[in-house]
Amino acid sequence: MSAIDVDRLQRDLEAIVGPRRMSLRAIDLETYSRDMWPRLLLAYRDGKSPPFRPHAVVWPEHVREVVAIVKLARERKVPIVPYGGGSGVCGGAVPIHGGITIDTKRMQALRAVHAAELICDVEAGLSGERFERELDRRGYTFGHFPSSIYCSTVGGWLATRAAGQLSTKYGKVEDRVAGLTVVTGRGEIIETDGPNRALRGPNWTQLI
Ligand SMILES: Cc1cc2nc3c(=O)[nH]c(=O)nc-3n(C[C@H](O)[C@H](O)[C@H](O)COP(=O)(O)OP(=O)(O)OC[C@H]3O[C@@H](n4cnc5c(N)ncnc54)[C@H](O)[C@@H]3O)c2cc1C
Repeated sequence: MSAIDVDRLQRDLEAIVGPRRMSLRAIDLETYSRDMWPRLLLAYRDGKSPPFRPHAVVWPEHVREVVAIVKLARERKVPIVPYGGGSGVCGGAVPIHGGITIDTKRMQALRAVHAAELICDVEAGLSGERFERELDRRGYTFGHFPSSIYCSTVGGWLATRAAGQLSTKYGKVEDRVAGLTVVTGRGEIIETDGPNRALRGPNWTQLI
């Protein structure tokens, strides 16, 4: 990774999401310097300055913006770190090489609930608690209740193959996924779902 031209990065990110949904402010870079990894929390408690910070934080609202950010990062050889609720306890969302932290929390729509199929279409940044409340209001449940449901996101659950209080009954989160819309590191979009996927080769939902 070559040195990052921060001014240029700022201009380019602003061109994608506008000035209000990206930040290079010190307070934001510090906020996104850690998740719930105890080692960094203890260092924070002891007043130590964070060892890792992103160069920029960005809050996309559409898949097309994520695609543009990923393509930009790839072109400039800038690392990216997806960030959901930041409740992970293993440092997965910590920007150990700096770069762009992509917070998904503005992608939070429950787009559709298909009653006949018992399938819903939900965006990655929706918080677990709001997701479950929205389903409950319609008479359904996702059946996934991690202790961190108030501070984690659907995308974070999937990335970590999370378990919850009723996983023995309903299965872990990956057992409840019909398909994914994935932005690859090249900025391509892959749709993994489809009833005939077994005929087409590997199970991309579980592979990813
Ligand atoms: C008090 C507490 C209780 C917890 N209880 C449980 C529990 O019961 N069960 C359990 O399994 N875990 C639990 N955890 C751990 C944590 O909540 C889970 O790992 C959760 O799934 C993380 O979700 P998140 O949205 O906070 O993800 P983050 O912490 O933001 O990210 C976790 C990882 O996923 C990646 N990621 C996030 N979103 C995306 C995305 N959209 N696309 C690609 N990658 C992404 C990040 O880069 C990072 O590597 C707990 C944590 C705490 C602090």
